[in-house]
Amino acid sequence: MKYIGAHVSASGGVQNAPLNAQEIGAKAFALFTKNQRQWHAKPLTDKSILAFRENLDRAAIAAEHVLPHDSYLINLGHPEEEGLEKSRTAFLDEMQRCEQLGLSLLNFHPGATLRKISEEESLQRVAESINLVLSQTQGITAVIENTAGQGSTLGYRFEHLAAIIDAVEDKSRVGVCLDTCHTFVAGYDLRTESACDTTFAEFERVVGFQYLRAMHLNDSKPDLGARVDRHHSLGQGKLGWEVFRYIMHDPRFEDIPMVLETIDDTLWKEEIAALYAI
Ligand SMILES: [Zn+2]
Ligand SMILES: [Zn+2]
Repeated sequence: MKYIGAHVSASGGVQNAPLNAQEIGAKAFALFTKNQRQWHAKPLTDKSILAFRENLDRAAIAAEHVLPHDSYLINLGHPEEEGLEKSRTAFLDEMQRCEQLGLSLLNFHPGATLRKISEEESLQRVAESINLVLSQTQGITAVIENTAGQGSTLGYRFEHLAAIIDAVEDKSRVGVCLDTCHTFVAGYDLRTESACDTTFAEFERVVGFQYLRAMHLNDSKPDLGARVDRHHSLGQGKLGWEVFRYIMHDPRFEDIPMVLETIDDTLWKEEIAALYAI
């Protein structure tokens, strides 16, 4: 069974996200549990937590198919002590919000070197950050997203994901989310069936599908290897439909949330229906 949805709005409160997902025919969804562009947020209220759980039931979406995304400000591989501490504190808060909501995953971008330390050193910091936060929480898996490799960001090579996982102590609570746009602009081709075979075989060899906990389904505005993060609606970018057909037919992508972050939210309902029609 495939579980498809989109990164829906939580404006007005997290409890609205499951209803927004239900409206577009989603069986999974992503959300921000706080404003993604601010460091601080008010704690979730008991009322909002209860309403979230009720609405999740009403939408018939399982908690394990919800994929919260952390704030864009957090850099778990930060080269400087102050930025690293601030990021770790904010990431712990994000994870505790997930715990309160009864969820099991938290999706995040690994971080960036800011060109002040080596990638290896920064990747080790990311792993240490994960270890710290996992030791203070229960039941949530840290889901590392592969990135486009824009600027000094980490996570654009499968080897980066593997290096982080390797240094995480509790392997049962770490996983990855592959974003099809990021994978492609990072230099892994996905435009044909044979390109998908090669890229996913490489993923299996370097990371392993046992760590695949989620997907982001996006087409790409930039071309292969451009290292620029610009999503497009399905079938309208440089990727085309083949990769999405491939994923829908491949059992390795079953039972995990697969979430659209495509640019036109008025198309989400159609895009979800088109994927299920495959
Ligand atoms: Zn993504
Ligand atoms: Zn992106």
